[in-house]
Amino acid sequence: RAKTQQRAGHFYFSRSMGVEIRERVRMMHALRTAFGQNQLFVVYQPQIDLTTRRPVGAEALLRWQTPDGKFISPDRFIPIAEYSGLIIELGEWVLRTACRELVLLREQGHRDFMMSVNVSQVQFRHPHFLDMLRQALDDTQAPPEYIELEITESMAMEEPDLLIKMLWQVKQTGVSIAIDDFGTGFSSLSYLQRLQVDRLKIDRAFVTEITGSARGSSIAEMVIQLGRNLGLAVIAEGVEDERQAQILQALGCPLAQGFLFARPMTAAALAGWLNNDALEGAA
Ligand code: C2E
Ligand code: MG
Ligand code: MG
Ligand code: MG
Repeated sequence: RAKTQQRAGHFYFSRSMGVEIRERVRMMHALRTAFGQNQLFVVYQPQIDLTTRRPVGAEALLRWQTPDGKFISPDRFIPIAEYSGLIIELGEWVLRTACRELVLLREQGHRDFMMSVNVSQVQFRHPHFLDMLRQALDDTQAPPEYIELEITESMAMEEPDLLIKMLWQVKQTGVSIAIDDFGTGFSSLSYLQRLQVDRLKIDRAFVTEITGSARGSSIAEMVIQLGRNLGLAVIAEGVEDERQAQILQALGCPLAQGFLFARPMTAAALAGWLNNDALEGAA
């Protein structure tokens, strides 16, 4: 009797679906509490120039550590934050935190450093998104030219006209835009050309494939070529070993991010990492 059945137009929930919904509701409450109790924090993963191997920026990534020390992956809790609407508040907080961190790093002399922030489509579609963005930039005094918003390719494919207009308005603030997880959706060339974006991020899956088979590098290669033709910067995500880095560089990929160079780290660790790195570079 606990099976899902579609009968005479009615939809019956199975017991397992009930469990799933209860689990989701439980997590919604836990996430809200966690946010209120400062269990959420932002870490930063450096992005590097593949030629010079010097850091050029960082991506802000949200973390949730429960009081018993366990980490819950953003892949699990971001969808819940989106579903519950908490992402509006949470996303604003991440943006402001990242902007403040950028300002601090600039005060320490890292003046060419870029900060990338992930933006959920729920945030992006919210009617006050632009006001929120302008206000965050204004309050934190973060320079918009050094802030980049990452939107996913899947999001780029819905409602083209609305997105084109939104991106244009975001660009007016001076902030730049990257398409995250690029290669996983199927944006057409002509559509991509109409979007006001600055960067394509090659999805980790295609970076991993690079060293796999003979044709493994074909998608990465295509994205790098596409970036070149459209005049967009390209960054590879999830670079884990030196061979991948070398192939990417040989293919003409200018930028990369991944465990090979640095893992996501706390703000304090990032400042230390950058200062050490700067010393090494000078030596
Ligand atoms: P993403 O934006 O594509 O972020 C890259 C993910 O790849 C991060 O996972 C990062 O830790 C991981 N990563 C980086 N280098 C490597 C590597 O060399 N190997 C492997 N295996 N992984 C690597 P993370 O932090 O778990 O985040 C997962 C996803 O959650 C993000 O994917 C993003 O979509 C979402 N997310 C994280 N923080 C936020 C946020 O503040 N707002 C929103 N809307 N989404 C976020
Ligand atoms: Mg991202
Ligand atoms: Mg990504
Ligand atoms: Mg990804």
